[in-house]
Amino acid sequence: MLSRSPTIDHQSSTHLAPAKINIRLKITGRRPDGYHNLVSIMVPVGLYDRIELRGTDHNLITLWCEGLSVPADRENLAYRAADSFFSSTGIEQGLSIGLKKDIPVAAGLGGGSSDAACVLKALNRIYSDPLTKKELAALALDLGTDVPFFLKDGPCIAKGIGEILEPIEEWPRLWYVIVTPPVRVSTAWVYGNLNWPPIGETEQLELTRDEYQFIIANLKKSSFAPGHILDNDLEALTMARFPVIGAVKRALIDSGAGGALMSGSGPSVFGLFESEERAREAKTRMKTLDTGDVFLAEGLP
Ligand code: ATP
Repeated sequence: MLSRSPTIDHQSSTHLAPAKINIRLKITGRRPDGYHNLVSIMVPVGLYDRIELRGTDHNLITLWCEGLSVPADRENLAYRAADSFFSSTGIEQGLSIGLKKDIPVAAGLGGGSSDAACVLKALNRIYSDPLTKKELAALALDLGTDVPFFLKDGPCIAKGIGEILEPIEEWPRLWYVIVTPPVRVSTAWVYGNLNWPPIGETEQLELTRDEYQFIIANLKKSSFAPGHILDNDLEALTMARFPVIGAVKRALIDSGAGGALMSGSGPSVFGLFESEERAREAKTRMKTLDTGDVFLAEGLP
């Protein structure tokens, strides 16, 4: 065990954990362990949870939450991230975690995963990198398949179950109007109800390669526009159960979006805008429709 480090004792630091949206999410197979292989374009956006970390003397991890309701115990992904960091480094330290939750919960925006990655990254930095990037990525994947993405900064192509990540160097600067209808979607329910035919390993690999090549070919086009490649294999199922998702999509397009799509397993839907001003106008209009919480967020580079 390492001795108590004075680095974090009683000093507090504040960190921002951004949300993500999936510009494209294609399922390319199901693994024997039940996880799904996918190819996705994931983009972090400027809608944040705020996390405060402070060292304490009592050798325990404590957590307080404010804002939107999430479990304020060992189930919280921020808590679990800190716990796994201390266990794997052997560092003995008391830590108080304050979580101000603003990213809608169970909404397809990756809030819990982002909180977990934020805590892992911050603790590794505070303790001067006891874990390598590879070790940190392994801890992240153990916490959830979206967590490794949030260790990176910026848009990525995700493959495998989400752990193979390739940064996209030149993603267009866009504004996203995000609407989260007031329905709770269980990610497990969505994946459990996907109508996925049995498929061999070779076919899975081919599908993955084709999807990946499709994305790469589009990114190379001089005329590339994200609105042209929006697609989410989980959308039809979630939308059939919650028709409000389709209504929000249509309303975003009517409000001037250059495309609209459900993010992750939903229910949040985003619309794309090249102009901040048009995005603001759309946000105002979407608020009047009262179909859910409405946010305007810039894509993060
Ligand atoms: P996922 O696809 O992983 O479910 P999501 O973006 O749809 O991601 P999250 O907001 O991450 O949803 O919440 C997923 C579940 O994780 C919720 O049931 C929530 O209670 C639990 N959870 C645990 N810790 C957190 C946290 N810090 N923030 C949000 N949710 C958390």
